[in-house]
Amino acid sequence: MVRIVVQDRLIRSGSGVEVTVLELLARLRERRVHRLGFLGSRCVAELARSCRQQRVHPAAQLVGRLNALKARKWLPRGQSHDGGHHFDAKYLGHPGSRVDVNARQRPLAVVGGGQAGLTAAFGLLQQRVTNILVIDENPEGQEGPWGTYARMPTLRTQKDVGGVDLGLPNLSLRAWFEVQYGRRGWDELYKIPTELWLRYLAWYRRVLGIPMRNHAKLVHFRPEQGLIACELEVNRTLQTVWARTLVFATGIEGNGARHVPEFISQNLPRERWAHTQEAIDFPSFRGKTVAVLGGAASSFDNAIMAAEHGATIHVHHRATELRAYNPTGWAEFSGYLAHFPDLPPETRWRFSRAFKRFKMGPPNTTMMRARSLPNLHIHPAAHWNTVQFDGERIHIDATDGPLTADFVIAGTGYVVDLTVRPELTEHLGVIATWRDKYTPPRGDEDESLASAAYLGPNFEMTEKTPGSAPWLSAVFNFSRGAQMSMGPMPIGLSGIKYGVPRLVQGITRRLFVTDAARYFDGMKTWQESDDVAEK
Ligand SMILES: Cc1cc2nc3c(=O)[nH]c(=O)nc-3n(C[C@H](O)[C@H](O)[C@H](O)COP(=O)(O)OP(=O)(O)OC[C@H]3O[C@@H](n4cnc5c(N)ncnc54)[C@H](O)[C@@H]3O)c2cc1C
Repeated sequence: MVRIVVQDRLIRSGSGVEVTVLELLARLRERRVHRLGFLGSRCVAELARSCRQQRVHPAAQLVGRLNALKARKWLPRGQSHDGGHHFDAKYLGHPGSRVDVNARQRPLAVVGGGQAGLTAAFGLLQQRVTNILVIDENPEGQEGPWGTYARMPTLRTQKDVGGVDLGLPNLSLRAWFEVQYGRRGWDELYKIPTELWLRYLAWYRRVLGIPMRNHAKLVHFRPEQGLIACELEVNRTLQTVWARTLVFATGIEGNGARHVPEFISQNLPRERWAHTQEAIDFPSFRGKTVAVLGGAASSFDNAIMAAEHGATIHVHHRATELRAYNPTGWAEFSGYLAHFPDLPPETRWRFSRAFKRFKMGPPNTTMMRARSLPNLHIHPAAHWNTVQFDGERIHIDATDGPLTADFVIAGTGYVVDLTVRPELTEHLGVIATWRDKYTPPRGDEDESLASAAYLGPNFEMTEKTPGSAPWLSAVFNFSRGAQMSMGPMPIGLSGIKYGVPRLVQGITRRLFVTDAARYFDGMKTWQESDDVAEK
């Protein structure tokens, strides 16, 4: 019997264990969850029901479940997308719209309408660069991971990380949230529920009027008469947009691809495996066995979702112990976040090598949820030797014993590799990589770091051979592959507020310097008096 005492009421369930609220509180406090005002009776009833169904030991293991429940509390409220919170970008009018450094000219193209692309667009709008076009291959609301393959109840990041607001309090998640749920709600909020973040980004895009085109995929680009001709695939037809600059804000796969070991992709029929980033038919797993390879947070998020849909899950990972620490936590200071690119190449190389050695484990709360599910089995210090398909089932030779499964989920991450990006392949001969620009000391070589693009100080692509492709400086790379040159700025929320202003400055500088003669002509004939300007 699970008994949870809430305000002198008993809620019964039947798993043969008993929790008092004091015990639960003590465990929650150990995990620095101090406020329990959120735990309304509906949540408690749901918690008790879930204990009964899943026969979990409460207390410690309930914490993970609680966090998932807490995340749900904030979703969705009423019809409004924005809770009435209003932000008017016109209030930030300086230096005035009379001089738009890109007015009436070809647009600046931003590829990718996730949080980075949106923030880059806002950064440009803030500088009165208005002729911009953000494109995304996905439908509206499905840009980036948050509405699709981010299968966790909350973001990992602390709720006050900010970033996309570019330092403007009224544009922050907190301001938007407090209008809907009040200051107290913010205090009670543990971490940012994933769906809430998606709704906030939708509000952000709308309230800032970011010009965006969905269902448009950049497939090629080339220099043409001082512009970048961007070939977009829209409804299976090709359209060309000529842009003055091109920004890649293409996310975690931006300069590479999902990584799936060949022993999976070559030995199994395509319908029997998926990468964690793909659409997965979880309801079809009921009563089936699903094997998950990898010990990262995404592996466990997928494993939990499959287990909650009634499958038996086995997760194999190499580490003897999964540590919940987040290496990017070390990097959370303005020096590293803002000035990594100002370091000489040899120092950036050393940092990046050291950073790579950190293995980021799933958050504690994720592991608690995973451990609370009796149908989810974790196999530490184990990997797979071979995978075979006999026409019906999948046979896995794992180092801790054989396993037969119906479906495989590869939680095996991503690689940075410019050669696999179709839109980049025709320019590989001119794009500089680290291999072209820096030779590490013997013993410090690293193929994956060497293959990353070697970027200039404002995220611009650089030439392999100086003078061979000067147009590349109009192409900016704000995707994950930029990390080697730029540090954490393009890879998550912590760095975005440092990265976007740097990017924007690179773009506005380029526009101004390119058009300096035009501005000079305009200046010679300029006659506006103060009286006129003040009207
Ligand atoms: C599951 C998961 C959880 C994460 N959790 C956190 C977290 O808690 N905190 C944190 O700080 N970071 C987190 N991250 C890391 C990072 O913040 C996210 O990856 C985030 O989505 C990056 O934003 P982005 O705009 O750079 O890329 P994305 O959000 O991935 O957006 C890129 C967009 O570009 C589109 N695109 C790509 N190529 C093209 C093309 N050729 N033409 C048109 N469109 C294109 C993509 O379809 C996508 O919509 C997480 C990442 C993942 C995968």
